[in-house]
Amino acid sequence: MDLKALIRDIPDFPQPGIIFRDITTLLKNAQGLKYVIDSLAVETQKLEVLPDYIVGIESRGFIFAPALAYHLDGGFVPVRKKGKLPAQVFSIEYDLEYGTDILEIHQDAFTAGAKVMIVDDVIATGGTAKATADLLTQMGCDIVAYGFIVELEGLQGRNKLPDVPIISLVKYS
Ligand code: AMP
Repeated sequence: MDLKALIRDIPDFPQPGIIFRDITTLLKNAQGLKYVIDSLAVETQKLEVLPDYIVGIESRGFIFAPALAYHLDGGFVPVRKKGKLPAQVFSIEYDLEYGTDILEIHQDAFTAGAKVMIVDDVIATGGTAKATADLLTQMGCDIVAYGFIVELEGLQGRNKLPDVPIISLVKYS
């Protein structure tokens, strides 16, 4: 399937010089939506070590992570922006292009040694996925893979991530 034909490019959003890869046009296409969820599941099932939990990063990771977890008979765990989760949390602060942001996860989300896969819609610089990985590693999780719909290869985000398989379905240079 030609995913690039279904993903809409929005130049200069949210700021000049960025080409925003808008997946809403992919999501509303029934075949496109089915294809990306099924493909993520098929590629994940090929992994040597399968995840017990799929961690989705707020907010667009929440579109894909639960669907993947459902396919794999796994659980879904949200990583959220600061102040959204109701129980006790662990937090991590990480650098954005301008300023910093904070991600949080429930302290009791996992037992030590849980096998987890981190999912988001897009990997750009890799900063968000790396911060999530650091948070999970500090909790004693075993990160077994990453999954993205879109990879912006020119930004070399995958170089920031620990040496485990990275699944991405469509790559832009
Ligand atoms: P990063 O931490 O740089 O890998 O950025 C990842 C997050 O920013 C993802 O959650 C994406 O949703 C979003 N993002 C960054 N760049 C783009 C882009 N060009 N198009 C769409 N989403 C993007």
